[in-house]
Amino acid sequence: MFRPLMAYKAPVYGSQIIVADRRYPSTQRCSQCGNIRAGEDKIELGVSVYCCVQCGHRDDRDHNAALNLEQYPRLEGNERLERPWMIVPLPALCKQNWQA
Ligand SMILES: [Zn+2]
Repeated sequence: MFRPLMAYKAPVYGSQIIVADRRYPSTQRCSQCGNIRAGEDKIELGVSVYCCVQCGHRDDRDHNAALNLEQYPRLEGNERLERPWMIVPLPALCKQNWQA
């Protein structure tokens, strides 16, 4: 239900919905240098802090993942975008949705 609602609302805000590939390692990728933690270096579920083993970048796990998802459309292989994309203003959408 969430995705159809986003697809409906996005054009109203001049935004475009981009669905990240399920295999995109947003949690394992360093948002600063692009290094992907794998194997024994893979960040576990209970760990809330991301620390890059390559550049030393340290961030909240969810914030790092959010930055990676923000970068997703610009990464190689995603040039299919027809126009510059925007982040859908979720709080505004939710507020409007609840007021309706
Ligand atoms: Zn890094």
